[in-house]
Amino acid sequence: MKKHNFYAGPSILPQFTINNTAKAVIDFAGTGLSIMEVSHRSKEFVAVMDQAIALFKELLEIPEGYSVIFLGGGASTQFAMVPYNLMNKKAAYLNTGTWAKKAIKEAKLFGEVDVVGSSESANYNFYPKDYTVPADADYFHITTNNTIYGTQIRKDLDCKVPLVADMSSDIFSRPVDISKYALIYGGAQKNLAPAGVTFVIVKNDMLGKVDRTIPTMFNYQTHIEKESMFNTPPVLPVFAALQTLIWLKDNGGIVAMEKKNIEKANLLYDEIDRNKLFVGTVAHEDRSLMNICFVMTEEYKDLEADFMKFATEKGMVGIKGHRSVGGFRASTYNALPKESVVALVDAMKEFEKMKI
Ligand SMILES: *Cc1c(COP(=O)(O)O)cnc(C)c1O
Repeated sequence: MKKHNFYAGPSILPQFTINNTAKAVIDFAGTGLSIMEVSHRSKEFVAVMDQAIALFKELLEIPEGYSVIFLGGGASTQFAMVPYNLMNKKAAYLNTGTWAKKAIKEAKLFGEVDVVGSSESANYNFYPKDYTVPADADYFHITTNNTIYGTQIRKDLDCKVPLVADMSSDIFSRPVDISKYALIYGGAQKNLAPAGVTFVIVKNDMLGKVDRTIPTMFNYQTHIEKESMFNTPPVLPVFAALQTLIWLKDNGGIVAMEKKNIEKANLLYDEIDRNKLFVGTVAHEDRSLMNICFVMTEEYKDLEADFMKFATEKGMVGIKGHRSVGGFRASTYNALPKESVVALVDAMKEFEKMKI
């Protein structure tokens, strides 16, 4: 039976990425060797790294004056690396979910953290809008898409202090005006590649301004100067990321992705709003295009396990909501075909007919 992969992360990748990576595991670039056993300094792999960075910049239209680096350690390492490199005294943060809160915790190790807005008391079911960022903050940190709670900000903020964003779960899902940001980072395993590679887009003139000494591996400048090859990069995930970038370009780039993502999300949100059994968990205007969270209405709460079983039998995988929200979460990343959303919507309709 066809599986419909709604996992939140690691999550669905284009078949193109999986096929090409599988081939490279057997024979990489005609070397007769596996990608897992060639030097990262071989000309074949250096070409992969160069092409991945070039295509990453091209697709996101990254302006002059920015660097793109690929690191290990996941987005979670960036929670510390950002303040290590950018915070002298004080930074402002928006508390919009579990990941934002973890970023705040790490930042406090480096200086004063001003949490200017939070939706925590409402179980993060909206994206805060009324807040003031202090003019003397070294930067303002936001999480553009809250993977666990399903809220998203889809515009690029005008901010008087340097803007830093965790875009782990919505990078490449919509066009972004990079010039509005000082730094953007994310783990690749939501919309780009298998787990293991982390991307950082940084405006070069943000660096070298803090008073502290930064250990070599934690210093962005190290990785910029060595073009992501200071130490051994995650070779296979970088190769896979390149395949996804090629797929993105071949499929109309980010503008086409956004159109498809809006279409998919509308299909599912419309059904959540129409169906008497289900209800969305977040404010309509803040609904994420990538992670769609919903629960059963109070009246039908006890049918949740039933629906999970029903949907699983129809090939749905990974729709269980995160334990902090409950219910269901369907992640609709770039690689998820529209047919999978249609299959989920059909299952919801069918289940409603059976129960009401
Ligand atoms: C998944 C996720 C993270 C954590 O990423 P790791 O690579 O596991 O450290 C951080 N932020 C957001 C928004 C995420 O979705």
